[in-house]
Amino acid sequence: MKFVNEYRDSELGKKLIDRIHHHSTKPIRLMEFCSGHTVAIFKHGIRQLLPQTIEMLSGPGCPICVTANIDLDKAIALAHLPNVIITTFGDMLRVPGSHSSLQLAKAEGNDIRIVYSAQDAVYMAKDNPDKSVIFIGIGFETTAPTIAASILQAEEEGINNYHILCLHKLCPPIMKALLDLGEVRLNGIVCPGHVSAIIGSYPYQFIPDDYGIACVVSGFEPLDILLCIDMLVNQIETEQYKVEIAYRRGVKPEGNKQAKLLMDTVFEVGEANWRGIGVVPLSGLRLRKRYERFDAEKNFDINPGPSSEAKGCICGSILRGVSTPLDCKLFRHNCTPEHPLGPCMVSAEGSCATYYHYGASYGE
Ligand code: SF4
Repeated sequence: MKFVNEYRDSELGKKLIDRIHHHSTKPIRLMEFCSGHTVAIFKHGIRQLLPQTIEMLSGPGCPICVTANIDLDKAIALAHLPNVIITTFGDMLRVPGSHSSLQLAKAEGNDIRIVYSAQDAVYMAKDNPDKSVIFIGIGFETTAPTIAASILQAEEEGINNYHILCLHKLCPPIMKALLDLGEVRLNGIVCPGHVSAIIGSYPYQFIPDDYGIACVVSGFEPLDILLCIDMLVNQIETEQYKVEIAYRRGVKPEGNKQAKLLMDTVFEVGEANWRGIGVVPLSGLRLRKRYERFDAEKNFDINPGPSSEAKGCICGSILRGVSTPLDCKLFRHNCTPEHPLGPCMVSAEGSCATYYHYGASYGE
């Protein structure tokens, strides 16, 4: 398969691993922000192939996991309104909120449907003019342009019963917030490939400039990740910190201009509430005033009540990189993919699910 097989070549992989072992002389700590990278790193056993000098941490890059319970509770409250169809990506259904989940709300008879894109939700609104169709808009810069396109389509076609619950989040601001928290000392960051395909690599420049931390954008195949780690090690060993791209086939420094224009047309930057971190200014997207009529929060009266976390669940500290799933007493015993207690076990890309499927014995 083109663009896949050549990035899984075992001989090239071995050469890269040898090079990393050869060059890495001092203990360093790298963080992959994207949950897609976490899955790939575990699935391909990359942690075990690295020298002991390199410690890998997982960051807050799973859009489902970082959605705060207070926002999940809003989605569940919206689902209980009459004449409403909630549309969402599949994984969101099982995520436990403070008191319930969308899955439970669906079992109670509320109309909640899984869609594969926001455009599906627009079509659903068109087909159900007597109902309000609300799309749960989660995700980073990767998905935001498609949601923006769905708003523009609804406007163009005069579809006024389409709304979004806008929970979109931005990657560079949360990287900055985590670095400012100072809970984990990092030497290098594996920057997300999909997000960077949209925003490019320029927005990460503050990482080497202000924090003296190495920064390389990576793809998702094993050779992409090994090359990225090799480039990070090289920056750290030579103390020449910069932003580099190890995923040239997917990412340009300037990003995707059309996608950025779409986002900028429909959204403006605002605060966002992150699980485990709290409200971070300028780390999310909200609809511009012109598109407020599509904003579910502004158009529906809901009272989700006080939010709370599942007792014993440490998803928040896992997302900040200060704990791993192995630190959670509930991991594998009370909390499994079949009976998840927190979002990191629900999402296929959540750290807990990833450890459960690919790496439960790692570090034990
Ligand atoms: Fe939360 Fe379950 Fe992960 Fe523990 S194992 S942190 S309860 S999701």
